[in-house]
Amino acid sequence: MNCQHCHKPIEDQYTLCPTCELAFTLLILRLATFTEPLKASLDSTIHPGGHQPTRTNLPTPPTPIRLEVLDLIDILDSTACELARWLEDSDQETAFTSIQDALIRCTESDHLPRFADAELYWQTFTRLEKRILQTIDAPEETRIIGRCPNRLCGIQLTAPNTAITITCPICNNTWTVKEVKSEWLRQLVQEGRKTGTAAECAKAFTISGINLQRKTINKWAERQKLTSIGVDSSQHALYRYADVYRIATRKSAKRLDKNQSVAA
Ligand SMILES: [Zn+2]
Ligand SMILES: [Zn+2]
Repeated sequence: MNCQHCHKPIEDQYTLCPTCELAFTLLILRLATFTEPLKASLDSTIHPGGHQPTRTNLPTPPTPIRLEVLDLIDILDSTACELARWLEDSDQETAFTSIQDALIRCTESDHLPRFADAELYWQTFTRLEKRILQTIDAPEETRIIGRCPNRLCGIQLTAPNTAITITCPICNNTWTVKEVKSEWLRQLVQEGRKTGTAAECAKAFTISGINLQRKTINKWAERQKLTSIGVDSSQHALYRYADVYRIATRKSAKRLDKNQSVAA
């Protein structure tokens, strides 16, 4: 016998080699993680054409649904249930509590590497995965960059990593991504009580264009320049953004002074 997928020789009664069995299992598990984002992509008011550079989180309930997403969910559901029934050798009436349930039961089955149509389902699932990834907002492609700087709007804005400008889908103002990001930090700082861990502070500052490392913040705390005002649930020290901002900007002002005096 040969593996249906990579065609390497394998033991009799098997249809997939151990490596391909693992790869197929991982594909099925990935699909299980896509079901929630898929359902979230159903709302056509939030996702007007699918892969959107901007995405709004409206408080209104989902209205018109995207039929192509509904279609995808249906295909995934029926394919998953079909495969799970084959693998469990159960009658056509077996009910699964969810798509995830059906998919996970596929991965748990001992019959997966012996299933006669393994390669066929693999191809079907691979095609489905491709379509799903084109439909859902892939988290690594777009991310939250802050809130709309328009005070009257203030909606959460998302942009792809490569975006330079962004048009707010609600108030229609166009901002540079930099403006949105620094506005976010400005608000964190201005609202004096906002706190974050060293890592969170470093991230907010760096995103906003002030390069700051977590270990620098920790060092300030060690030297008692910065006082923590409690800990989060994982026992990480919390700092006020306003305090961090004060030290960070004082530092860079000093550095500027120094450079100027060197130049002079
Ligand atoms: Zn193989
Ligand atoms: Zn806006």
